[in-house]
Amino acid sequence: MPRIDIRFRDSLARAGTAEVDGRTFPIPAVADVEQLFPALAELSGTNVPLAADAEFVASYFPPMTSPCVVIHPLACGHATHGDCVVVANWHTSVSRPADYVRWLTAMKAAVPPDTLWYAPASALPSTVNLLVFAGFDLFDTIAVDLASSQGHFCTPEGQEPDTGSGPELCGCEGCRTGDLHLHNRLALDRELALVRHRIRTGRLRELVEARSRLHPAQVAILRLLDGEYPFTELYTPIARSATLLATTGEALRRPEIRRFGDRLAERYLPPRSDVAVLLPCSARKPYASSKSHQKFRGTIRDRAHELIVTSPLGLVPRDLERVYPAAHYDVPVTGYWDREELAVISSVIARYLNRHSYRRVIAHLEGGALAAARMAAAEAGVTLEETARSHPISPDALSDLEAALEGERVVRPDFIRGTLSWQFGADVDTRGLQVRGKPPSRRVVRGRVPFFTLDEGTGLLRPTFDGWNLIPGGYRVEIDDFLPRGDIMVPGVLAADPRIREGDEVLVTGPRALATGRAAMGAEEIRRSARGVAVRVRRIMAQDGEPAG
Ligand SMILES: [Zn+2]
Repeated sequence: MPRIDIRFRDSLARAGTAEVDGRTFPIPAVADVEQLFPALAELSGTNVPLAADAEFVASYFPPMTSPCVVIHPLACGHATHGDCVVVANWHTSVSRPADYVRWLTAMKAAVPPDTLWYAPASALPSTVNLLVFAGFDLFDTIAVDLASSQGHFCTPEGQEPDTGSGPELCGCEGCRTGDLHLHNRLALDRELALVRHRIRTGRLRELVEARSRLHPAQVAILRLLDGEYPFTELYTPIARSATLLATTGEALRRPEIRRFGDRLAERYLPPRSDVAVLLPCSARKPYASSKSHQKFRGTIRDRAHELIVTSPLGLVPRDLERVYPAAHYDVPVTGYWDREELAVISSVIARYLNRHSYRRVIAHLEGGALAAARMAAAEAGVTLEETARSHPISPDALSDLEAALEGERVVRPDFIRGTLSWQFGADVDTRGLQVRGKPPSRRVVRGRVPFFTLDEGTGLLRPTFDGWNLIPGGYRVEIDDFLPRGDIMVPGVLAADPRIREGDEVLVTGPRALATGRAAMGAEEIRRSARGVAVRVRRIMAQDGEPAG
């Protein structure tokens, strides 16, 4: 039975190691699959087309047993933990984007996540990025060897007839010696190495967006997969250390972007100010560190709630500007927003304004951001006051803003309450809590008691045991009757709050101990897996009150 050790997750993609009969290899990878699973050679009747109907599948799909099972979108209930699941004919799905996504989500929802996913005869240097992005781990050389025998030169950009340009285009050992077969295999290995590296660094999405440009069907698959947001969001980490590059139209529909806007409307609790000022973003993040925002802040002086209008996030309240991905994205800045961008962003703002009402909404904006704010105000039935006749940081515009805010009362932004509402959906009484220390070790205390530490990388708050006492419910992982000695493994978990995503701060609760830590996988994966680390534990406290680790 294969043992799968997933170390890094990036949405459906995973990277780590697999061990089969004492042999350990990295995943995702090309492997000698027939040698790893001799049972594969014995299987017959597995060539049922992916598009076959239920009756055909029921008649011809053979019964199978672990550890190597072939699955089909209409027959995947037999796969179990630790299996190598084989999706035959997957290469035929790449030219059928709607089916690709429908079949993939059906299979991923039915098969336990702690399985090894093998796509036979599918991996090319130009398709393997998307295969891994879709959650496949194991590949073979059949597709590249076939391309070689057809005289095709394969690169991550695609394949074309081999015209002997290898030494000029590539220069690998195969190209130096005129060996197309070797070149194609090396090109696949190199692309897979890049994909693994991208998963480890949380940047696979940008590679997939870039690679897909040359393949309309791959763009379609990416877009349709983003349309399955309730499914993909379950597997999308709560934060990354890498910069989120929003350089394509698809970036607007990334699960992280949509989640930010959803939580703004559904969870976030703004400060109790009844005046809002909409401000332009800055290239520098967090915005407050930029020269323009220092001017805005100096003019507003907490007499309004500051909301930054930005692409692709839509809207970022000042008190959330450090939360991922608000301080972690980069976009090409031209001053021009296309209609798609305007439509998506104005709908985020409109949804926010519908949910959180203000007595006055001031737009201190120009260009695309102003256009988006006007569209949103019209949609939400809000009257916009505009204070930037000229460039928002010009002295004229700033003095108009100053005049507009005269006499308004001061309401201090409360980043602790704002962040906790976004992060945990909790309304926390933050009276008496104060931020102490300097980056990178800022903490939130009441008197001398620490309640939270600030994760400077993600902008999220890490509760101490006292901090968890302020968060009434949710984000709990319930464990069995044992005293944890380290990380919490899946078999020890009885239940996990379904809202937990990879990277979330969680409180582990059990009859013998409490522990604080960070979820290593989302609740859906915890629930559907039989092994693996569920929570990376920071502190353990025995229920008798003694620190245990
Ligand atoms: Zn080469």
